[in-house]
Amino acid sequence: MIDAYTGYAPTLVGLTLLVAVMASLAGFCLALRVRLSQGLSQRLWWAGGSLVMGLGMWSTHFIGSRATLVMAGLPRELLPTLISLVFGVLTSALALAIIQTRWLSACKLVLGGSVMGIGIALMHYIGISALHVGGPMSYDPLLFMLSIVIAVNGSMGALWLSFRLKPEEGRKITLWKTGSGALVMGMAISGMVYTAIAAVEFPHQGVALQIGSTMPDRLAFTIAFAAIGIMLIVLVLSIYDAHLTSSNARLAASLRKANFELKALVSCDPLTRLPNRLLLEERLDALLTQGEAGKEFAVFFVDLDRFKTINDSLGHHSGDELIQQVASRLKVAVRNSDMLARVGGDEFMIVSAENTDKASSATIAKRIVSSLSKAFQIDDNLVRITTSVGISRYPADGVEKHALMIHADAAMYSAKDAGRNTFKFFEPGMNSVTEKRARLESRLRDAIDNDALTLAYQPKVNVVTGEITGVEALLRWHDAELGHVPPDEVIPVAEETGLILQIGEWVLKTACQQSMDWHAQGYPLLKMAVNLSAIQLNNRNFMEVVRRVLSQTQLPAQYLELELTESAIMQNPDRASMILRRLRKLGITLSIDDFGTGYSNLSQLKRFPINCLKIDRSFTSGVNSDAQDAAIVKAVVAMAHSLNLEVVAEGIETQEQLAFIREIKGQQYQGYLCSKALSSEDFQAFLKERFPINA
Ligand code: C2E
Ligand code: MG
Ligand code: MG
Repeated sequence: MIDAYTGYAPTLVGLTLLVAVMASLAGFCLALRVRLSQGLSQRLWWAGGSLVMGLGMWSTHFIGSRATLVMAGLPRELLPTLISLVFGVLTSALALAIIQTRWLSACKLVLGGSVMGIGIALMHYIGISALHVGGPMSYDPLLFMLSIVIAVNGSMGALWLSFRLKPEEGRKITLWKTGSGALVMGMAISGMVYTAIAAVEFPHQGVALQIGSTMPDRLAFTIAFAAIGIMLIVLVLSIYDAHLTSSNARLAASLRKANFELKALVSCDPLTRLPNRLLLEERLDALLTQGEAGKEFAVFFVDLDRFKTINDSLGHHSGDELIQQVASRLKVAVRNSDMLARVGGDEFMIVSAENTDKASSATIAKRIVSSLSKAFQIDDNLVRITTSVGISRYPADGVEKHALMIHADAAMYSAKDAGRNTFKFFEPGMNSVTEKRARLESRLRDAIDNDALTLAYQPKVNVVTGEITGVEALLRWHDAELGHVPPDEVIPVAEETGLILQIGEWVLKTACQQSMDWHAQGYPLLKMAVNLSAIQLNNRNFMEVVRRVLSQTQLPAQYLELELTESAIMQNPDRASMILRRLRKLGITLSIDDFGTGYSNLSQLKRFPINCLKIDRSFTSGVNSDAQDAAIVKAVVAMAHSLNLEVVAEGIETQEQLAFIREIKGQQYQGYLCSKALSSEDFQAFLKERFPINA
């Protein structure tokens, strides 16, 4: 009800303020939605927002006018009332359009605020002009000006606030900030409305008083509640949309993060933190497509020689440690602009795209080979390795990624063939390892089917008496296409393909049978030594195979010796220990082959029931020239004696070497000094010479 003394209805004044605050709140929230949405939804928020905000502002004017004694209940003309509403909507549309822009310059603030303020004033004064007051209205110029100033300043304040309330990166807008902003704005709008109302001077105040009603104004309440209702709905909608957007944004952000981590994971080698093959190939793709065609670059393939042996004998932990140290040294050896990647267990690749003429590629390769040839300290062991490097060059050796990689790989294998510890540039005719392997495998399968494998025999000799103490069976394969393929090449392929089980059983049986055959011809029964691969030892049926061969050939078990490398035993030491015990129980002699190359030590070997150590040729060959080799061989023989192990010196080629072994009390030797590995017939001839009486 309108207070007759003040001339205002307090409830409606309160409602004006409430609607104004709600309109401001809706304005700020809608401004955010418009800013954060895109495309059609942005346009929809803008249009809907303009309507709702416009309606809200217009309602403040409407309710305000109905709250005064002088205007309440006055009839209105429809057209100017609608035009007034249109001005409210247009002003809101302008406000939301300005808020969408990135920056609020001073010029934009003043100009935008002024246009908005004038828009609001127009909305209001056109609205008032719709009232039938029974004569021309006039305005108090001071209050009129003041109302415009409030409208312009209020609009500028609203613009400024909505930019202030814009969410910056990493900052959240707090509810109280928006709420207090809306309160200030609401007060400014209401202030403007009531100042403008006060500015109106009616022609016949008395008439107006009579016309005006002191009864509660239903229409004003209806409009107020309708406006509040609509704005509430819009607020809820905008909060819901904000929630959706932020969960979408969170989802997008976590997807981005997951993608990033996934990419890092799939493109990085976890052990060395170096790029992996994937990233290296991407780099190659980029170089090949970047339009840098014509610009030379080089691809290096780096492979550690005999890494598997170290890994097997020292354990995987040490193998990993070695790879990490190798990676660190490689990082130093290459240049900052080069990409170094780990592409396999002990394989690294480098893409070198800056200054890569042949000479500087060779310099890098030399640096790699020499830096990796220095000893590595792995736990308590000093480990020495060598490295083979292959280099292919763009565009000379290929203009396509795979060709460059395969050619670098082929060059690396050629470096290995050339004795390892070196590097090679790709040359036409070098076959990639895959091609070589595939060919070797298929020929080997044929060789097995056609019984083309043979055995050669090398005697073991007593160091003191020169008597033959036994014989070692060594695999031989002469292929019509590939020529003579040494066991060092055959065995790895056979191991990879599983053919080793078939070959191994054939070797065992043929060797045992051979021993019995020679014996049948009157020669003394010789102890036959057969080399075993780790795969055979770890095979479930191995004991059965040994028993079967012994029973088929009738060779007494004490005339069979099995040679195993340290790495073969160390691959699965528990199982090896169990199998070796069973073999020993049968009476079979067990030897450690190539002793010294496997990095294990005697104390580790103590737990295995072995009879004999065969000192590797790489040590015995240097006993007369290299003090360190001599010291090692001497120490090994002394330790072997203390552990009650026989010693066989491998690869004895000279009398001097033999004299050294005799001096340090090694018991047996093998080597070219006595005899090379001989074919079955030649070995029989050899026996005939030694044992003429029996022939
Ligand atoms: P290994 O068991 O240590 O055999 C000794 C190797 O040294 C043989 O090479 C032999 O011909 C060579 N050799 C012997 N005395 C001398 C010498 O005085 N000077 C020089 N320079 N070399 C000498 P081969 O036959 O090429 O065998 C190489 C390796 O292949 C063998 O080393 C053995 O580990 C493996 N192997 C050979 N046959 C078989 C087999 O049937 N099964 C398995 N699993 N491995 C085999
Ligand atoms: Mg051997
Ligand atoms: Mg050996």
